[in-house]
Amino acid sequence: AKGAGRDRYALFDPAMYADIMREAEDRAELEGALAGQEFVVHYQPIVDLPTSRLIGVEALVRWQHPERGLIGPNTFIPLAESTGLIVPLGRWVLRQACEQLAAWCAEFPLARGIRVNVNLSARQFQHEGLVEEIAGILAGTGVNPHQIVLEITESLLMQDTDSTIDTLGRLKALGVRLAIDDFGTGYSSLSYLKRFPVDILKIDRSFVDGIDTVDGDATLAEAVVQLGRALQLQTVAEGIETAEQWSTLQDLGCEFGQGYLFARPGAAAEIATILTGTAAD
Ligand code: C2E
Ligand code: CA
Ligand code: CA
Ligand code: CA
Repeated sequence: AKGAGRDRYALFDPAMYADIMREAEDRAELEGALAGQEFVVHYQPIVDLPTSRLIGVEALVRWQHPERGLIGPNTFIPLAESTGLIVPLGRWVLRQACEQLAAWCAEFPLARGIRVNVNLSARQFQHEGLVEEIAGILAGTGVNPHQIVLEITESLLMQDTDSTIDTLGRLKALGVRLAIDDFGTGYSSLSYLKRFPVDILKIDRSFVDGIDTVDGDATLAEAVVQLGRALQLQTVAEGIETAEQWSTLQDLGCEFGQGYLFARPGAAAEIATILTGTAAD
């Protein structure tokens, strides 16, 4: 009887109850935001390091909250992941980015030479209809699939199952390119790089941060660049904030980069300014 009493008490633990209620409310709010079109996609330029010319953009989602203002993805992506809402949200971001690319291409000849990177979470990757949905979005918006880069994380590749390899192969068959995001932060065995059909390595911001100050960080970044060269993959450095980092990365042979030094993520209209051609020169 004593045990049952304790169990019953645990069932009504007020702190736990509050947590559950809060999570349910947050989830409902997120669902409402998706239905009410409160999300917006911002775009951060990716540049050719020697010339700092625009070669592409990364699509990054934000929540334009009616009371709290613009909210960054780190506050809501984890909940979207855990509730599975990342599947419709991620699909929406991809469609938005493809529509935007099609509009830029129609208006600016320069846009036909750029790529648009879109983040794909592990949860989306496991979703059954992913490849068909992406195929539908590409066909529906009419974008050149070669201009789309899907960014996936190392942890996803770590699962190294037949179905991972199968999905990656089917994505590649659509004509899109694949990038490994945050490269170097996972517990990776390098052997998977040879087996998976990836095209681009993105050097994580944590290595770029200390490239001129922390012993070993430049060595690590250089190792990634060398690895990319050996496997004929492009390398993109993330989070470049200073001219020193920019110059060091060029010395190491890194081709492309993105970071606040070049531009912060911004609304589509800011990218259009660059694509008119006047600002690029
Ligand atoms: P990420 O994919 O690694 O994206 C790069 C993040 O670094 C972005 O943060 C960007 O604003 C930030 N960043 C770029 N340059 C600099 C710099 O020079 N200094 C600093 N300190 N930060 C820089 P953001 O937009 O807050 O996004 C955070 C994360 O949220 C992303 O990291 C990505 O993992 C996730 N995310 C964003 N949009 C999406 C999406 O549509 N789908 C999915 N699944 N995840 C997304
Ligand atoms: Ca990314
Ligand atoms: Ca990243
Ligand atoms: Ca990162």
